[in-house]
Amino acid sequence: ISERPSLGGGSRILVFVRLRPMAKKEKEVGSRCCVRIVNRRDVYLTEFANENDYLRLKRLRGRHFTFDASFPDSTTQQEVYSTTTSELVEAVLQGRNGSVFCYGATGAGKTYTMLGTMDNPGVMVLAIKDLFSKIRQRSCDGNHVVHLSYLEVYNETVRDLLAPGRPLVLREDKQGIVAAGLTQYRAYSTDEVMALLQQGNQNRTTEPTRVNETSSRSHAILQVMVEYRVKDDAKNVVNRVGKLSLIDLAGSERALATDQRTLRSLEGANINRSLLALSSCINALVEGKKHIPYRNSKLTQLLKDSLGGSCNTVMIANVSPSNLSFGETQNTLHWADRAK
Ligand code: ADP
Ligand code: MG
Repeated sequence: ISERPSLGGGSRILVFVRLRPMAKKEKEVGSRCCVRIVNRRDVYLTEFANENDYLRLKRLRGRHFTFDASFPDSTTQQEVYSTTTSELVEAVLQGRNGSVFCYGATGAGKTYTMLGTMDNPGVMVLAIKDLFSKIRQRSCDGNHVVHLSYLEVYNETVRDLLAPGRPLVLREDKQGIVAAGLTQYRAYSTDEVMALLQQGNQNRTTEPTRVNETSSRSHAILQVMVEYRVKDDAKNVVNRVGKLSLIDLAGSERALATDQRTLRSLEGANINRSLLALSSCINALVEGKKHIPYRNSKLTQLLKDSLGGSCNTVMIANVSPSNLSFGETQNTLHWADRAK
């Protein structure tokens, strides 16, 4: 991986693409790979079977994309973490907020990238691990306090994934928009965190018809707050807080046709509301607009203090290699391209 581009000033969004390996199921039905990554930056989308054809696509519009980095299917969780998120963890220790999103169709690898598995922990766990190790390295140890909250936005309803129960109400106070009553879990080490997050992920809303699967309409947001004391210029001790938000977004695919069509289209509309609102905010930020429409959804209200301004924002677009997902992959790459 080439050196990570500098975040610089302003609110430029760093955009990455991660290709996952071909799944067994996809192989069994004879899918071909339709995504090629060249030089860890360029992504070519091709329906051609011939390996050599893709370079010609450079001339074809809409089939060639360049991102801050693109991860081939052999990329490890640690590489993805180091390239996309480690700088944001450093920034949080200096009191700067940041956010990392995983965007893509259901099955494209968002949850694998964010949460990962016990054997291959993802960005959420690696970020917390790195955070604790960086805190330990600092001289004034014992000064930093870390709190975690883990919540879900489903159907424009906010729920606490660490203490499932009634929906939470969003309130605006002096600090910004807060979910009233949300659990702030004080974390002391990495070890406890993986199990906690896996359990939280289990608490995500499931499809009524497929109880073992997490709903593709659920957004999961992990917020890591670091509080510490510093001396200001007048030698007064002041509290500072940095916040990192890690977001496993709902599936970006169109609402599926099911037997519960009315409910689905309602939920679909609401999911689209949060994803749509996020897209609008990102486009407004990228275009340098003054007004950012945070108010349009629960997701963007919750992330108001972590998106834009001096915050670091990272987008990871997840895609499947299979030609059966060609349309979704193209949509995802176009969306990611507009966020640059
Ligand atoms: P999503 O959350 O976008 O719906 P998942 O993260 O659940 O997708 O991924 C779908 C399947 O693919 C899961 O079984 C997951 O373990 C697997 N998978 C996704 N990305 C990778 C990867 N980079 N390496 C290995 N397996 C992966
Ligand atoms: Mg998922």
